[in-house]
Amino acid sequence: MIPQETDVVVVGAGNAALCAALSAAETGARVLVLERAPEPEAGGNSRFTAGAIKCVYDGVDDLRRLMPDLSESEIAMTDFGEHPESRFYDDMGRQTQYRADPDLTEVLVTQSRDTMLWMRDKGVRFLPMYGRQAFKHEGRFRFWGGLTVEAHGGGPGLVAALVKAVTAVGVPILYDTRATDLLAGDDGVRGVRVRHKGRTHEIRARSVVLASGGFEANAEWRTKYLGPDWELAKVRGTRFNTGDGHRMAMDIGAMPTGNWSGCHATGWDRNAPEFGDLVVGDNFQKHSYPFGIMLNANGERFVDEGADVFSYTYAKYGREVLRQPGQFAWQIFDAKSQKFLRDEYRFRGMTRVRADTLEDLVGKLADVDAVRALETIHAFNAAVEEDRAFDPNIKDGRRTRGLAIDKTNWAQPLDEGPFEAYAVTCGITFTFGGIRITPSAEVVDTDGAVIDGLFAAGEIVGGLFYFNYPSGTGLMSGAVFGRVAGRQAGQRVLPTEHRQAG
Ligand SMILES: Cc1cc2nc3c(=O)[nH]c(=O)nc-3n(C[C@H](O)[C@H](O)[C@H](O)COP(=O)(O)OP(=O)(O)OC[C@H]3O[C@@H](n4cnc5c(N)ncnc54)[C@H](O)[C@@H]3O)c2cc1C
Repeated sequence: MIPQETDVVVVGAGNAALCAALSAAETGARVLVLERAPEPEAGGNSRFTAGAIKCVYDGVDDLRRLMPDLSESEIAMTDFGEHPESRFYDDMGRQTQYRADPDLTEVLVTQSRDTMLWMRDKGVRFLPMYGRQAFKHEGRFRFWGGLTVEAHGGGPGLVAALVKAVTAVGVPILYDTRATDLLAGDDGVRGVRVRHKGRTHEIRARSVVLASGGFEANAEWRTKYLGPDWELAKVRGTRFNTGDGHRMAMDIGAMPTGNWSGCHATGWDRNAPEFGDLVVGDNFQKHSYPFGIMLNANGERFVDEGADVFSYTYAKYGREVLRQPGQFAWQIFDAKSQKFLRDEYRFRGMTRVRADTLEDLVGKLADVDAVRALETIHAFNAAVEEDRAFDPNIKDGRRTRGLAIDKTNWAQPLDEGPFEAYAVTCGITFTFGGIRITPSAEVVDTDGAVIDGLFAAGEIVGGLFYFNYPSGTGLMSGAVFGRVAGRQAGQRVLPTEHRQAG
């Protein structure tokens, strides 16, 4: 049954939406969650993630509070370092070329730690992300890349924990229910129109929170906004994020903002399906290229694979792969670098070739100029400066010199067989362009005025990410702004004297 009326409608059932629903429910408001996907495919991109979350912590005591299961032996064998606010600000600034909206960034950074503790209190368990963000070197793990924490069970675990929490407080989730329009007039937003099993319904509400993701699954919009060839990218996550929320909001005058021609896109198995596969999750990604080299169809390198730890380059290198002839590349590793390959390289069914010699390997690289590929590898090997020690945990400065594109860290000659190569294409994760909100998650119109009753959180929000992205920030931003949006949306229902600021 579709109810005709409630206090707060939340559009979407990913991380941002579920955090918004929990937060709105805390105010005492009646809350309803609408999910376009059927239940087996619900949870948006959030469910496809590894659950990695970038948050502020000032040392191991903060991590103990967040992860009460952290054992003394884990603490003894690990250098967790710290991730203070200053580092989070610095990452957001550097990665976005200092275009990230400063007010939204401040909310994201300063509320990240508290929001994580709030999620923990709601039943989300967190763990240190050993497998992907720390290497054991000389007997100790050391975390790098500003990303230390993951949700237990990854994205599926995170969504399951949030759904459990939402259900426990009596908030219904209506699956197979697609919001199509906002009901709005001179007094702002007063509900939504939805499609459910071929029928149209109207649900009146005091507030609506849009948390319907980006438009990455809409091939037409990708081409329209990101540019030529983007229709050829594979979608890493859900097929349901087609920009409905953007369209509904703009239809009533919301202001588009941020990097509409930009997106998060990574290397992704060349033969992956058109949309994400929940069984495979994020294992089609291939993020260990800093320990090898990448060749295009012409047998040439096209980026500095070692420019930084993957967390700071992977989200922009998908675009570089899309720019190559045929929109693909091969990642190549020799025997000594294979021990640094992330777990996704061991997932069955990946597009991989193996050979004992480089001569044999280049002959197996489908659609590649093998002669030129071999020349490129030999030239790369000859250009490696051997004067610095290789260290996977830091930017070791071990580099090539004199190539058209040098590799500036972790450069080692590819000279120990057996060799392995993995074919990747561009996988789009989410789009950066979105709707303008205030730091209180209120949607703003094209004149700069707040649209009464309309809030937004998660990928649909514009203005945070430009050009690139520090890994783990998508979930953190969804949680922080989801929590803010839910609180604001719920408080509108309360008498004025009971509302809290911001
Ligand atoms: C493979 C992969 C791995 C990733 N790994 C990480 C990671 O480890 N850490 C990290 O921080 N980020 C990661 N990301 C990015 C992260 O998924 C997103 O930034 C984050 O999940 C966005 O959350 P959201 O709630 O805004 O959107 P989503 O989780 O995508 O939720 C959007 C929801 O809206 C619903 N919806 C859409 N249209 C409608 C409509 N008209 N009516 C009703 N419902 C609608 C969708 O069905 C979905 O439930 C990854 C993404 C992918 C694809």
